Amino acid sequence: MQATIITIGDELLYGQTVDTNSAYMGRELALLGIRVREILSISDEKAAILEAVARAEQASDLVLITGGLGPTKDDITKSTLAQYFDTQLVSNPEILALLEAFFASRNRPMLQSNIDQALMPEACTPLRNDRGSAWGMWFEKNGKAFVSMPGVPFEMEALMQQQVLPKVKQYFRLPVIVHKHILTAGKGESFLAEEIAIFEDNLPANIKLAYLPNIGSVKLRLTAHGTDRATVQQQLDEQVTKLVTQIDHCIYGFDEDKLEAVVGKLLLEKGKTIATAESCTGGYIASQLTLVPGCSAYYYGSVVSYTYDSKREVLGVKQETLDNHGAVSEETVREMLLGVCSKLGTDYGIATSGIAGPDGGTPDKPVGTVWVAYGSPTDMRTKKLSFKGNRHQNIELTALMALELFRRYLVKI
Ligand code: AMP
Ligand code: MG
Repeated sequence: MQATIITIGDELLYGQTVDTNSAYMGRELALLGIRVREILSISDEKAAILEAVARAEQASDLVLITGGLGPTKDDITKSTLAQYFDTQLVSNPEILALLEAFFASRNRPMLQSNIDQALMPEACTPLRNDRGSAWGMWFEKNGKAFVSMPGVPFEMEALMQQQVLPKVKQYFRLPVIVHKHILTAGKGESFLAEEIAIFEDNLPANIKLAYLPNIGSVKLRLTAHGTDRATVQQQLDEQVTKLVTQIDHCIYGFDEDKLEAVVGKLLLEKGKTIATAESCTGGYIASQLTLVPGCSAYYYGSVVSYTYDSKREVLGVKQETLDNHGAVSEETVREMLLGVCSKLGTDYGIATSGIAGPDGGTPDKPVGTVWVAYGSPTDMRTKKLSFKGNRHQNIELTALMALELFRRYLVKI
């Protein structure tokens, strides 16, 4: 089973528009186990379109085409495909009715070019477009499928999800592919790889492991191939269980889980509350935690404290502590945590203080040095972190590590 992707549009060839459609379609097809043989980007010219479709038909079972479906004269994909499949354009009453209703609701007259958007090649199955006026088209010929979609990425993506992918799954006998994403934080890719090297070596031939690293986190993807869905799923589940037992401590979730939501869920389950005192992260942790709907049940707030004065006056950090140890110190983050828990009346706190950069480093506290405190006022943990990123990365890493350390703490108690 092979596919060809054709993206149509002069703007792609001029380099004015980056062809993101191909990448999107390629990713989606790969998830179904369909190999993309070629990606062709071509101009809005009849000869080029006819030639590309013919080339694709030769070698592929599935051809996905985007672009050239607008109402203007430069968009000629529809009429060209009608010619290719030797069929005529006829007005589709359903599309016409929707277009009429749309223009009426806006009190705008319909131009001939708008009326023509309801024209569809007789031989195709029209694919409804919820997000725009140009519908997609599905053609079949000798067991092969040809799909034409609008170029606007937002419209193409909806068409792919709602219409094209379900139809592809129905029309072709596809191999079964099942994925599981295992989300880890706080452990570098190579350390992780070393820890699970034996597991990886012993994976059955139909299961593959991929490392997808991001800032401070690594997503592990296990992909299983086969012919029978239940069997493939069971084989995958077995390996996931094995992997989880090995690296349990650094796994915060699976698939679409988010660290801040996992932390929130743990707090809810325990009926506990938290506040944050943030120096170097400047509210970034607060921002992450408040991305979770319903977080006010456990998240009481944050003090963003960027000076000695505010650390002393708002959080109650002692002047002596600041003088003797500096703002970036274990002693200071301890007192920041105590201060914010007492001010906001929470069970737990997270406090951060560090040198995000690019300036402000010293030989014994270089840029990227961060102190984090987390836990409860009576059972607090601290950790010194050392990052090597730029300012933004150091802030992101601190927030991620603080949340992950706190998650591990919560899981244990
Ligand atoms: P069209 O269907 O040709 O009217 O495309 C409309 C718009 O979609 C173009 O002006 C581009 O901005 C965008 N577009 C077209 N093709 C692509 C592509 N392959 N990748 C990303 N954007 C595209
Ligand atoms: Mg175009």
